Amino acid sequence: MVLIDGKKVSAEIRSRLMKETAELKSKTGRAPGLATVLVGEDPASAVYVRNKNKICNEIGFQSFGQNLPAETTEAQLLDIIKELNENDKVNGILVQLPLPDHIDSEKILLSIDPKKDVDGFHPINVGKLAIGNALLTPCTPTGIIVLLDYYGIEIAGKHAVVMGRSNIVGKPVAHLLLQRHATVTICHSRTTNLEQVTRQADILIAAVGRPHFVSSDMVKEGAVVIDVGINRVDGKLTGDVDFDPVAEKAGFITPVPGGVGPMTIALLMENTLKAFKASL
Ligand code: NDP
Repeated sequence: MVLIDGKKVSAEIRSRLMKETAELKSKTGRAPGLATVLVGEDPASAVYVRNKNKICNEIGFQSFGQNLPAETTEAQLLDIIKELNENDKVNGILVQLPLPDHIDSEKILLSIDPKKDVDGFHPINVGKLAIGNALLTPCTPTGIIVLLDYYGIEIAGKHAVVMGRSNIVGKPVAHLLLQRHATVTICHSRTTNLEQVTRQADILIAAVGRPHFVSSDMVKEGAVVIDVGINRVDGKLTGDVDFDPVAEKAGFITPVPGGVGPMTIALLMENTLKAFKASL
């Protein structure tokens, strides 16, 4: 069994981005800019945003943090996004979700310039992903493909089973796998005989949000198991996969933490650099 080290791969990506950013800076006199927008005081969201800004600065990007009070109105937020859309120094805009209930998230996502949509959630970019020609694709799903490639795991012709059909993980990762010529099955809470389906997977992606949900009975001998889940159990981070028994059966497996998680932020930075280069 090979343990897939997302921390290592993510660090390598970040150092490549740092080098490329320095080169681009000396050529163009400009640095990529990422604007993070946080509304309210949700502690987990605040940690995510702080971390994104920190890594942004480490790589040499300009970070534009907007920490707004929970009472911010939808109209005020739309105005702020309009300003960021028009600001040439900003190449990527990330609105941290979830937004407070009085703000319509869909309306906000639609207001972001698709060229600056580094999360890849704007319907234009979702459509481009479905067609197969998107520049900016969602970070966590793209990070999964990068991990598979890094470890030399063949995707073409393999049966990939995706557990979960969210717009953030399940659906986009299924599209990316299809684009890479996998045969893709998507499962969800209404799938019947789930075990029978997952046992067929050469590549199994678990994005369900339930701790230890994937047992070793659900996994084929030698399968590649990618655990996207981030669940907090007794204060500890736990994936969707029952790690120890599944690891005994799997050919490759990602740990939680240290697997898919660190890739998300690296791919966010990669998207910001892509958006910057496309703007030159
Ligand atoms: P959602 O809650 O939006 O989606 C969960 C999906 O799992 C749904 O499609 C749901 O089906 C399906 N599901 C739930 N229960 C079952 C079941 N019993 N059998 C089969 N399918 C089931 O979650 P997300 O996609 O946003 O996130 C999934 C996990 O990944 C979470 O733990 C989240 O924290 C983590 N995550 C990690 C990231 C990272 O950077 N590593 C980034 C984003 C998410 P249905 O549609 O029918 O309800």
